[in-house]
Amino acid sequence: MCGIFAYLGPRKNAAEFVIHGLTKLEYRGYDSWGVAYDEGIKLGIYRQIGKISDYDPVKTKFPESTMALGHSRWATHGGVTVANAHPHTNSDSTIAIVHNGIIENFDELKKELVDKGYVFKSQTDSEVIAHLINEYCKTMDFEKAAKEAMKRFEGRYAVLAMKAGERKIIAARRGSPLIVGIGNNEYFVASDIPAFLEYTRKVMYLDDNQLVVLNNGTHFFDITTGKPVEKRVVEINWKTESAEKGNFAHFMIKEIMEQKDTIYRAINQEDSEIEKIAEEIKKAYGTFLIGCGTAGKVCLAAEYIFAKVAKRHVNVVVGSEFPSHQDFLKEKSLVIAVSQSGETADTLEAIEVAKKKKSKVLSIVNVEGSTMDRESDYSLHIKAGPEKAVASTKATTSQIAILTLLAYACDGRLQEGKTLLIDTAGKINDMLNPRYEEHIHALAEKIQHHESMYVIGKAVNYAIALEAAIKLQEVSYIHAEGFAGGELKHGPIALISEGTPCIVLVSNGDTRTDILNNAREVKARGGFIIGVAPQNEEVFDYWIKVPDVGIASPIVNIIPIQLLAYHLAVLRQNNPDMPRNLAKSVTVK
Ligand code: GLU
Repeated sequence: MCGIFAYLGPRKNAAEFVIHGLTKLEYRGYDSWGVAYDEGIKLGIYRQIGKISDYDPVKTKFPESTMALGHSRWATHGGVTVANAHPHTNSDSTIAIVHNGIIENFDELKKELVDKGYVFKSQTDSEVIAHLINEYCKTMDFEKAAKEAMKRFEGRYAVLAMKAGERKIIAARRGSPLIVGIGNNEYFVASDIPAFLEYTRKVMYLDDNQLVVLNNGTHFFDITTGKPVEKRVVEINWKTESAEKGNFAHFMIKEIMEQKDTIYRAINQEDSEIEKIAEEIKKAYGTFLIGCGTAGKVCLAAEYIFAKVAKRHVNVVVGSEFPSHQDFLKEKSLVIAVSQSGETADTLEAIEVAKKKKSKVLSIVNVEGSTMDRESDYSLHIKAGPEKAVASTKATTSQIAILTLLAYACDGRLQEGKTLLIDTAGKINDMLNPRYEEHIHALAEKIQHHESMYVIGKAVNYAIALEAAIKLQEVSYIHAEGFAGGELKHGPIALISEGTPCIVLVSNGDTRTDILNNAREVKARGGFIIGVAPQNEEVFDYWIKVPDVGIASPIVNIIPIQLLAYHLAVLRQNNPDMPRNLAKSVTVK
């Protein structure tokens, strides 16, 4: 997690410039932030608790500087305090670092440094980086010292470092994303492209275990061998406005509304590519769908879709649990990794496991050029455009759409799948109108003060019930849980009391009767039944209409829940884009 960004170039307001860039990465971490800038013989450091977007450029001015680095934190080690906010420095504040990730051997390194007399000012794992570079600087120059230090850190990290009076930024990557932006005689390095998208579209990706020295050029090295590596400049085609909120109050609502278009974009893939991947799935000796959080629920939905459409069994495992399943992997197995960012640490670890077993890897990602995209045998891009709200919406439905397409392709019915999804996209366009939103807002007003709510579904809608619960938890902070409708009577029904909201996800077909019976069981115990269904049913206390789109129903059923979660968040005065304790792109394990 966390956003990091550095600048080196002719601009004289490097600190403010870095702060501005970091606001574009704030979705990655927002409990505290800070910036370090070169003041000649020492570095200026400014750190604050809270959101970087609260920074007031009129109140806080910075001295002139042409080199700076900054960080927007998502704490892993040490509480949210100014002392723990990054940048961290060596004792005399001549070296500053920012760090994304976890230094797993920090205890051991800290002990070594404390024994040498170093005094630590924070509880973070990150501070060891600054002191260790300082230690190596006693016998070598800064660049060499930073290179030596990077070799010693274990775990996943991205680190930026600079030293007072030395005109260079050193950036190193092991596991956490880092991208260099090449401007006009100026250089940027950030954990994600939006930080510098306004200024350049020319980027260079750091691969794992690589370090770059930015001064009057870019010089890449392998961290382990120290040898220089050749890199190429890639031109990216993101639109600046797609990374901005425009007229919407929040990114979350903007991204929900974009689903009018994003399904079309997701399924706009080369037929030959989809068919080639379908062949890989068909010949695989075990297909494993891997995802975390929402992407994990997408995988579960896909399991049902593959079963129904292609009569094919795929295994679903959440990323963090995958290492325990590695003995099932064979050379002929296929791992399908699903991730919006393509940087999710737990999913990346699953890919590493798969590679060790020489299994094939397919990634379904939104961010082109992300680690998963680059490290997989095959990639499919969902093409949803930047998703900045922490709670995933448009990426979710696009992932389901692509997986549905693959299921159809596995059954030799790719065009049928495409037609269904095009029809679904058209119906989403009709559905997402202002009256629909008002109807959901009215429901949010009704249930906003409840402490708990439940979501039930059957078959593919069971997966969507789980995803619906995540959406509600993430932004409304209401306790929400999803269940398979049939499981209620085995325990959870004890939680239902007078007026408890229970969302029932219904689609027409062979599961309808059962799930409506489950709804009646809840209603008999006083539950307030919110039906998400193609037609109104007598058991519903509140009906949210969704189009009847057959096996594509998970795509349309989750959209009203996304809207409900958003409106609940706003009514409860939560920031839906930056929910507490969370961050986008979970790059720590
Ligand atoms: N582990 C570091 C800390 O807790 C960095 C966390 C981050 O990636 O924001 O400060």
